[in-house]
Amino acid sequence: MTKKLLGVDVGGVIIDRQNDQTDTSFFGPNFLATTAVPGVFECLQQLHRNGYHIHLVSKCGPTTQQRTLQWLDHHRFFERTGVKPQDVHFCLTRAEKAPICTAQRITHFVDDRLDVLDYLKDVDQLLLFQPNHKDERRWRSSPQRAKLVNHWPEVVRLLS
Ligand SMILES: [Mg+2]
Repeated sequence: MTKKLLGVDVGGVIIDRQNDQTDTSFFGPNFLATTAVPGVFECLQQLHRNGYHIHLVSKCGPTTQQRTLQWLDHHRFFERTGVKPQDVHFCLTRAEKAPICTAQRITHFVDDRLDVLDYLKDVDQLLLFQPNHKDERRWRSSPQRAKLVNHWPEVVRLLS
């Protein structure tokens, strides 16, 4: 059986952008209180049980990297999902997600940005997760390799 390696973005896929303009914004002082995307813990746990080896691949600067690690720890992300702390990867540009995916032999990737998915030439299955209006319009305007998904249970269904 071929190994199933799933890459998952963090901002807008694990950490919910609904917080952005509120007092629980991930970019404000209450970042540990920023909420997760509904269902993400349960669905990642399910995918882990279904045989997916899961990597997190996040583009952000050093401050947000530290905040992300603290947030994951605070929300007991690793215990709740089965993801291993050593499988968290950070990079500074969107394009750099591609060599990370190639090095980890990632076969499936979930991201909320279409331009990120455009870079991932070596990944078989691309899922565009809850995109913003601009990305959704672009997704609809021309044929795309990526499938559009609206919530985590839909990701689990598609990857089963
Ligand atoms: Mg994102």
